[in-house]
Amino acid sequence: MVTADLRTAREIAAAVPDPELPMVTVADLGILRDVAAEDGRLVVTITPTYSGCPALREIAHDLRHRLRQAGFAEVTVRTALAPAWSSDWITAEGHRKLRAAGLAPPHAAPTRPGPVPLTLTAIRHEPVECPRCGSADTTQTAAFSATACKALFRCETCLEPFEYLKEI
Ligand SMILES: [Zn+2]
Repeated sequence: MVTADLRTAREIAAAVPDPELPMVTVADLGILRDVAAEDGRLVVTITPTYSGCPALREIAHDLRHRLRQAGFAEVTVRTALAPAWSSDWITAEGHRKLRAAGLAPPHAAPTRPGPVPLTLTAIRHEPVECPRCGSADTTQTAAFSATACKALFRCETCLEPFEYLKEI
């Protein structure tokens, strides 16, 4: 497989939207880990977001379908579970698109077991800002929204409900 083909394959794979968050792509979310050629086959590696997220199968199907249509005859979609996906992998562009769609992007993920960061600050529960007016005066109205990865909030300033993509 020539380099130009691989570049095209990467562009096609990166443009696949997330089925539950169609305003962002798998590249925006950091789900797309790698697109590589192996023995003439195309191997796409993805990492699932929230555990048990049913969107993964749909994403794999969409990746295979789009790449086959572009002429890549043999496409394998691999799932890499380690390292585990973190909402910190969502790109700045992803945050911008989420906010533009009225969805509050996640805060920085909680610290995982492992190397202890050199910080003495207490764990902060930062307010979730309203993606419409930017007010920090918001209230969580439901722990789960249409999908488990989102919580429902209401802005006390503009009174609009909005969804918050949970940090993980
Ligand atoms: Zn508001």
